[in-house]
Amino acid sequence: MSLPAPNMAATPVPSRINILGLSRAALEAEVTALGLPKFRARQLWRWVWRHGLTSFDEMSDLGKPVRDQFAELFTADRPAVSRRLQSVDGTIKWLLRFADGHEAESVYIPDKDRGTLCISSQVGCTLTCSFCHTGTQKLVRNLTVDEICGQVLLAMDELADWPAGKPDRRLTNIVLMGMGEPLFNYDHVATAMRITMSNEGIGLSKRRITLSTSGVVPEIFRTGEELGVNLAISLHAVRDELRNELVPINRKYPLEVLVDACRRYPGLSNARRITWEYVMLDGVNDSDDDAKALIKLIRGIPSKINLIPFNPWPGSVYTCSSKTRIDRFSKIVMNAGYASPVRTPRGQDILAACGQLKSASERARRQSTRV
Ligand code: SAH
Ligand code: SF4
Repeated sequence: MSLPAPNMAATPVPSRINILGLSRAALEAEVTALGLPKFRARQLWRWVWRHGLTSFDEMSDLGKPVRDQFAELFTADRPAVSRRLQSVDGTIKWLLRFADGHEAESVYIPDKDRGTLCISSQVGCTLTCSFCHTGTQKLVRNLTVDEICGQVLLAMDELADWPAGKPDRRLTNIVLMGMGEPLFNYDHVATAMRITMSNEGIGLSKRRITLSTSGVVPEIFRTGEELGVNLAISLHAVRDELRNELVPINRKYPLEVLVDACRRYPGLSNARRITWEYVMLDGVNDSDDDAKALIKLIRGIPSKINLIPFNPWPGSVYTCSSKTRIDRFSKIVMNAGYASPVRTPRGQDILAACGQLKSASERARRQSTRV
């Protein structure tokens, strides 16, 4: 005779909140809802954002009952790392896997006087810039606040950068230049950057954060007004006809409208300039006339121009301009009084071009399932 199965319909365990996604105000609301005083939120904030806490047991200045209460309610989970590659030049690239299985990338680029973390704001991208690999990836969703902040914390964990703000820190700058269009995910990006800038936490200055957009004009002004971070524009072409093709959002917000929005970006000065990103595509956008038209287009706006050698990917229709062409282009721009550094390609041995690692990993997975 078999015994009846025990009743397993237990009450569902409420899922815990990832604390990395909570603004300071939201954290205070959670803590006071537990019946705890507000200063507990401050303690918790400092542990998470100043000391990089991963387990609530690390909070040595709190009694065990409170630590347990926090552990029941919160997690401080970073995204999972599905691949990690390190280049001979020190560049590190992480392919991250989020709780729902979606993936995005972040890249750490060390330099002599700084260490820059390039983070993603979306899984894939809804835009389809013709030279960009991310634009070919079908799956798209916005990253959540904890997923954006999690990229920063994960890098700081790996770089042993705790406590935040120590003098020899390795992560000194953040650029929102990974996968996705940050201004299509403004609210999450803004909250994540406010958290990263908080003085009681990581305390990264707004001057050390750069947001790159393909030109989502309606969100540009408030990026400056509310966050005050540096602005980079993916320009890539100086004629509407060509830019419509390379950066299709140009059809909605053409050059004149985009440049006008940049002219009105809050806080611009010689010390705080707009960065114009310009990918060098052989025979497409790299002529002397293009360089001259570029100078004319941005006249009167405090600017620097970042010339980016095109990073080819399997199936791309473009090739990178020759070194002589890039130098010539750069010289014309420089003679007009603009700084125009040519971005040195980094991590080329580890597929560091935007979106490449993710695609390579998806291809490998498709192939292995076919087998
Ligand atoms: N969506 C935002 C931010 C991510 S793209 C934007 O477009 O600005 C970050 C930068 O990398 C952009 O300037 C983009 O144009 C550039 N980029 C994309 N694919 C590239 C490639 N294959 N080679 C060189 N630069 C590329
Ligand atoms: Fe998206 Fe930027 Fe790539 Fe264009 S360049 S497809 S906006 S990630």
